[in-house]
Amino acid sequence: MRRSDPFKCIRCGERASSPVRTWTLTSPFPDREGRLTVTVMGSFVCSSCGATWNAVIKKIKVGEAAGEERAERGEPYVITIDLEELKE
Ligand SMILES: [Zn+2]
Repeated sequence: MRRSDPFKCIRCGERASSPVRTWTLTSPFPDREGRLTVTVMGSFVCSSCGATWNAVIKKIKVGEAAGEERAERGEPYVITIDLEELKE
């Protein structure tokens, strides 16, 4: 099953404004370049039909190589997960 928008309701297609809960999954092994992939998951409840679902919100590569790439693009080195504040 392929879904492009994690915020979209699986039943009616309504868009959730924000996940009710988020958590992260970290891959146990780094990739070839020594980076770890952190997957940010979200739990959603549709305000329209009440359906609940979990979806991958984003994947973040964490590691030295990724840090250098970000620095080259002028992005901050520190990775901030803004959804973190929604955690209880
Ligand atoms: Zn819905």
